[in-house]
Amino acid sequence: MIFRHESLPQRVLFGAGRAREFLAAEMERAGSRKAMVIASARDERTVASLTSGLDAALVWNDVVQHVPKENAEAARKAAADAGIDVLVSIGGGSTIGLAKAVALTTGLPIVAVPTTYAGSEGTNIWGMTENGVKTTGVNPIVLPVTVIYDPELTLSLPAALSISSGLNALAHCVDSMWAPGANPINGALAVEGIHALARGLPILHRDASDIAARESLLCAAYLSATAFASAGSGMHHKICHVLGGRFNLPHAETHAVVLPHVLGFNAEAAPEAEQRISSALGSQDALEGLNALRASLNAPSALRDYGLAEGNIAEAADLILPIIPSSNPRAVSRVELQMLLHAVWAGEDPLRKEGRR
Ligand code: NAD
Repeated sequence: MIFRHESLPQRVLFGAGRAREFLAAEMERAGSRKAMVIASARDERTVASLTSGLDAALVWNDVVQHVPKENAEAARKAAADAGIDVLVSIGGGSTIGLAKAVALTTGLPIVAVPTTYAGSEGTNIWGMTENGVKTTGVNPIVLPVTVIYDPELTLSLPAALSISSGLNALAHCVDSMWAPGANPINGALAVEGIHALARGLPILHRDASDIAARESLLCAAYLSATAFASAGSGMHHKICHVLGGRFNLPHAETHAVVLPHVLGFNAEAAPEAEQRISSALGSQDALEGLNALRASLNAPSALRDYGLAEGNIAEAADLILPIIPSSNPRAVSRVELQMLLHAVWAGEDPLRKEGRR
């Protein structure tokens, strides 16, 4: 057994209704005098309540998915002009993404208060988009020093987005099972994440206000993020990275739609991973288990519903094919990738596509 695993240094504070208290303590701990709070305008009231009593020098609302470069540069300039000493992100992956882009050039520490299950807070990966091309990189400077999880802040996440975001976390876990850096440590995190997501998402689907389910899903989001940060991007993430950045598709929904197709493609070539995924899902077969879960959640199924055009498929395949990791359990041909993308676009049943029904 030969492998490399890096545990990223990070402080995690978790508690329902505790974000304000945790944030105040973290600002004091950092000796912060001028925080820049990055949050969507939608979160104005949450920001006001979490930061009352803090020295928030600047509240920055210009948050756009996939971090357009010009938005990053505007935020960097604002941080420099205001003499900011700590970045506080309150929101989903887009908010954390902007904080990471500022940290990348300023070295400012980030305190992240996530409100979705996307998991960016647990990774040292940054992303930025310029002219429809999304660039990502790994740099320890963008890893939030502290993550504050308050499940109450996720109660406002709409039910459908909660499901897609949870499936985004599930995708981190599943793809970690065969990503280039897959190892027994990140595999254990991923399997535990799958188990918690498979149990928690149906509860959330029935009752989006179930705080115990929200707690469990937020813990699972962190497990999924740490598994992904260690294992790296597998075939699934490479596909979603191109689709999201090039065609500006919504992140969580893209992951939710693509996952069963990559699982269907890889499963038979990765029997040990398949077996561990299926038992974490509580089923005999990983793809059947995932499909049953998705059906019970009324999960998104076709990217044509989210802005992908059939005419984009050939270009997407050209961009994706060269970046699929050579370690993927199954070699991927251009024709197979185009068929997979067509199925993703149309919402075809991945079981049927694999001829298993
Ligand atoms: P998002 O941050 O864009 O949020 C989606 C929508 O939900 C937005 O409209 C947002 O305002 C809203 N929202 C967020 N939290 C809410 C809440 N609690 N209540 C109500 N509405 C809420 O989407 P996301 O899926 O969290 O993040 C996607 C972005 O994160 C992408 O750009 C993706 O590339 C990036 N990401 C990066 C990493 C990484 O490791 N670098 C990992 C995961 C995701």
